[in-house]
This record gives sequence, C-alpha cells and structure tokens, in this order.
Amino acid sequence: MRVAIYHSNDEHSIQVGKDLAKILSQNEIVIDNEKPTVVITIGGDGTLLSAVQKYLNLLEEVRFVGVHTGHLGFYTDWREYELETLIKALKSDGGAEVSYPLLNIDVTHTDGSHISYKAVNESTLRKLSGTMVADVLIGDNLFERFRGDGLCISTPTGSTAYNRSVGGAIVHPRLEVLQMAEIASINNRVFRTVGASLIMAPNETITIRPVPSFHRTYNFTADRIDLLDKHVKEVHYSIDEQKVKFLKYRHTGFWNRVRNSFIGSIDEV
Ligand code: NAP
Repeated sequence: MRVAIYHSNDEHSIQVGKDLAKILSQNEIVIDNEKPTVVITIGGDGTLLSAVQKYLNLLEEVRFVGVHTGHLGFYTDWREYELETLIKALKSDGGAEVSYPLLNIDVTHTDGSHISYKAVNESTLRKLSGTMVADVLIGDNLFERFRGDGLCISTPTGSTAYNRSVGGAIVHPRLEVLQMAEIASINNRVFRTVGASLIMAPNETITIRPVPSFHRTYNFTADRIDLLDKHVKEVHYSIDEQKVKFLKYRHTGFWNRVRNSFIGSIDEV
C-alpha cells in the first residue's frame, strides 16, 4: 500500500497532514504522493474534489478516504482526532471499496477544439449576465430550447451539492444516472422549459448547445474548475465508464449521510 496525503491549505489541515505523515511512518506505511494506491484527503468535500482531479489518471488503482477538519464533510468519513483508528483500519485493509459514478464532460469550443473533463459532483454552463439561450438534446433528439441563467448536470453523489440548491432531487448513488436541473429558467406565455429537473436513464446523454445568434461567452464549471468567458459551441454529458472509489470501512450509508448533513442526527430531529 502506498499512501498520498492531500490537504487543504488552512493551518489546521496542514498540521493534521504532518501528524498523519508521522503516524504513517511510525506504522511503516509508505508515503507516495506520485503513485499512491490510497489517497487520504484532509479538509472538506472541496479538498476531496480537488484530490480526485489531481489523481484522475490513477482512478483504476486509487481509493480515496476523507478526513474532515470542521467542514460539512459529505464525502469525508473521519475526523482529525481519529487518525490512529484510521491507520489501524488501513493496516488490516482487505481492499474493500465503494464506488460512485463520475460525470464525463466533453466541451466543443467555437473554434472546433475539444476538452474533456470528469466531475465527481457536477458541471454547470451559465451566463453570468444576460440570458443563456441554449438547445437541450437528450441523446440526438432536441428536447427544449432553454432560456434562463443556466443548467446544472450532476452525478448522484453531486445531487446533494449545487443541484440540491437549485431544486434538483437527491439521487441514490447506486443509480448510475445523471440529472439536469434548471438554474432560474424563464417560463411565461412566450418562453417555456420543462420547469423541473430531469433524471436520465442509465446510458442516456445530454447535450447543451448554446444558440449561435445569442453567441456570447459562458461560465463553465466542473466541480471546482471554474472557467469564465468560454466560447462554447456545445457541451456533451454522459456517465463516465470509470468510477471514483472510496475505502469502505466506516462508510456511512447514503441516506444516513444525507440525514446527518442536512437534517441533523436522529436525537436532534
Ligand atoms: P464551496 O463554495 O467552498 O463549498 C460549497 C459547500 O458544498 C461546502 O459546504 C461543501 O462541503 C459542500 N459540498 C461539496 N460537495 C458536496 C456534496 N456532494 N454534497 C453536499 N455538500 C457538498 O465550494 P468547494 O469547497 O470548492 O466545493 C465545490 C462544490 O461546491 C461544487 O461542486 C458545488 O457542488 C458546491 N457549490 C455549491 C453551491 C451552492 O449550493 N449554491 C455554490 C457553489 C459551489 P465542505 O464544507 O465539506 O467542503
């Protein structure tokens, strides 16, 4: 087992990173930030999202585990005062894992160039000023002409993040589906969108194609990647063939995770 430590840049997380490095070496576990088999993140969900982007080329062999240092911690199962217990669990590791779907994103720019991204949570295409006018295709078929601020395409685990804030449904991650949620759509007698979030069947794809006569630039995001003024011709979304894997010991069930994050523990209800 080779372990990488990926921490957030606040003072506390840096210190927890140093403590973890010490415990790992006391337990003769190799620290390897280049070719790890386990990545331990220290911070919050945002830190975990950045770690996945850093190790995208190692997704097949890497499992992630998150230690949270005071953040919400939707993806992070351990607290910083539990490092010894975490290492004990690592040492008796039998390779158990739980894996979650990733979003595959292919952006075509107006000059014809392509860039691909993967996201754990979601990708959005938005206009920060003025109305975004874009055709939405499901598979090859035109579904609607959208007018509004933008659209959010999320994975099941991302459904509790930005998607939830814009009124999307929470989706269990065993359903390998993507969801499209509207961000402030215009709906009146003249302009009409479906006005609800859509959950695709597995293998269905979504394409957002901004209408050229309204051609301006767009804000594109994929998890923490946030690009302004992109000249976008179309963005194609599907569920990726790869998944992101997490260590399984202490992996809280999805609905417990949702309840703990948004409602509180059962005693508080
Ligand atoms: P941030 O603005 O610093 O944090 C956004 C919040 O979303 C944090 O509390 C974060 O948890 C939480 N979060 C991230 N993934 C989540 C998930 N799958 N389920 C539930 N909550 C989740 O942004 P960031 O740390 O760079 O993370 C980027 C993510 O933040 C984006 O992918 C987007 O989903 C989310 N975001 C949401 C909104 C919104 O809801 N209006 C706005 C901007 C970004 P931690 O505290 O543990 O980091």
